[in-house]
Amino acid sequence: MPTYEYRCEKCGRFEEFQRITDDPLKTCPRCGGPVKRLISSNVSIIFKGSGFYTTDNRSKEYKEQAKKENEATTSTSSTAASSAAH
Ligand SMILES: [Zn+2]
Repeated sequence: MPTYEYRCEKCGRFEEFQRITDDPLKTCPRCGGPVKRLISSNVSIIFKGSGFYTTDNRSKEYKEQAKKENEATTSTSSTAASSAAH
């Protein structure tokens, strides 16, 4: 059974267990004042995680690849440089 959050103008926030089929409260069960139902906000944060991991893996592989290529180029260029010095 979901918990709905309400805000009473007099009492402040409170939670109320209700069935989905129940009508939202219009009046506060404590003071009888008007209430508004709040939209639940704890759903959307988890989204971002998965993208980070794929990008991270890819960049790590890319770095390893770039490192190999870099070592290859530095070794050939150093030989070229030493032979040019002679
Ligand atoms: Zn109230």
